[in-house]
Amino acid sequence: MTIKEIITVPNEMLKKVSEPIEKFGINEKKLITDLFETMYHFNGIGLAAIQVGIPKRVLVVDVSNKDEKKKPMALINPVIKKLSNDTSVYEEGCLSIPETFIEIERPKICEVEYIDEKGLKKNLKCDGLLSTCVQHEINHLDGRLIIDHLSKLKKDFIIKKISKIKKNPDRIVV
Ligand code: ZN
Repeated sequence: MTIKEIITVPNEMLKKVSEPIEKFGINEKKLITDLFETMYHFNGIGLAAIQVGIPKRVLVVDVSNKDEKKKPMALINPVIKKLSNDTSVYEEGCLSIPETFIEIERPKICEVEYIDEKGLKKNLKCDGLLSTCVQHEINHLDGRLIIDHLSKLKKDFIIKKISKIKKNPDRIVV
């Protein structure tokens, strides 16, 4: 198991459309294990493979509360089959866009078809936080980020701000 480095904007890789997984083998199994470990390490509730630089259509989610039993779920080649007209709004953050939260309105319910870790085809109806999280992660597989919901001006401003954070050297006191 390995905690992977998460790539952040403006890395061009994040705009890439990920490729479907054709064969699920030992490498893909390891990738999922690493994604879970990385997601939990950085306190995320979802992570797509592209965020660790691997352009494959696989993502992990766990929207359980801290004091609840963990509910890890890996979705391979997920496809959204249905979206509700009802919407919900969450303030969303993204491990690939540090220190940025954006209110985003999305369909409240989504139905998604995917392959699970055992290779079985599954159908999942997601509501509330899980629905938002799954849509956010599937957006990653299509190279779409939460800042793409904003105007170009606001988006450029955020990217500039983040690039600046990264350029500042680590501060130390000795
Ligand atoms: Zn994200």
